[in-house]
Amino acid sequence: MRAVYVKKPGSLEVMELPAPSVGKGEALVRVRAAGICGSDMHIYHGTNPLAEYPRVIGHEFAGEIVALGEEATPGKQALSVGDHVAVDPVTSCGACYPCSVGRRNVCSRLKVFGVHQDGGMTEYVSVPAANAHVVPKEWSWEKAAMTEPFSIAANVLSRTECVASDRVLVMGAGPIGLTVLMGAVLIGARVAVADVLDSRLDVARKLGAELAVNSERQSLEDEMLKWTGEGVPLIVDAVCIPALFPSLLRMASPAGRIAHLGFSERPAEIIPLEITKKELSIIGSRLNCNMFPRVIEWFGKGLDPEKLVSHKFPFTEVRGAFDLIEEKPLETRKVLLTF
Ligand code: MN
Repeated sequence: MRAVYVKKPGSLEVMELPAPSVGKGEALVRVRAAGICGSDMHIYHGTNPLAEYPRVIGHEFAGEIVALGEEATPGKQALSVGDHVAVDPVTSCGACYPCSVGRRNVCSRLKVFGVHQDGGMTEYVSVPAANAHVVPKEWSWEKAAMTEPFSIAANVLSRTECVASDRVLVMGAGPIGLTVLMGAVLIGARVAVADVLDSRLDVARKLGAELAVNSERQSLEDEMLKWTGEGVPLIVDAVCIPALFPSLLRMASPAGRIAHLGFSERPAEIIPLEITKKELSIIGSRLNCNMFPRVIEWFGKGLDPEKLVSHKFPFTEVRGAFDLIEEKPLETRKVLLTF
């Protein structure tokens, strides 16, 4: 079988590898579509501190079950050969403190497909049956592969308990910001989006943003005060520039929540008084914690993830796909590989 292989930072090739066997409790998946994520680009460039090499990359993937190992019938859901599945890339130990309190996505021994173990940009991959989530057969493979990116949105909106009466400010209209926007709109919340690129703000408006603010031309803090009168109840930061953090604290309403999705290692300045006086919740959100069923439900309720797909490439052209993302960031949203 062929797979997208990063032997070491800076190398990216389609390699012939032995096909995996299917072990006890596992499902063998014939992959049909896989999304390219910023974190895949970082593994390729050697700028993902968590990645281990060599690596078959890809953590956003979907395909068809072609074989099942013994005892591959997790929980309520019985799997069958021929099922179409979206694969949750998060695997956890089940024994550490975070696992014991139901937070498997931050497991002390966390292993993510495509990061810490070989992933989904391959023709065949064996995954724990519990990670394979059945999707309707009428869905396109592209739609099924978008489950993982939307699980990031589902996780942050779950962690922050987003409800229909919320007003949400999404910082950043890149792929992650847009998934959060679409999720919050589906929940029924009113959503504002901030970015510095008009083309991205246009997309945000089309996807349901009530307000789209170019924070380079307008004062975002003034606009948020006008919009809410008393500060923003929920801010989701998908830009994650540490220097913006004090502004988020100022924009949040009393009793507000600020969720953070970034991986910056630079410090941010925090004025503790803002947190105490307004009793703010500052919430981290990483990957997803059992959110695939919720996202599959969202897609069934009419959230159309293919609106975020801008390009598709056969996996053999992965290099061209990576080049396009880097050379034309304004024209690309989600780029998918087909297998
Ligand atoms: Mn991703």
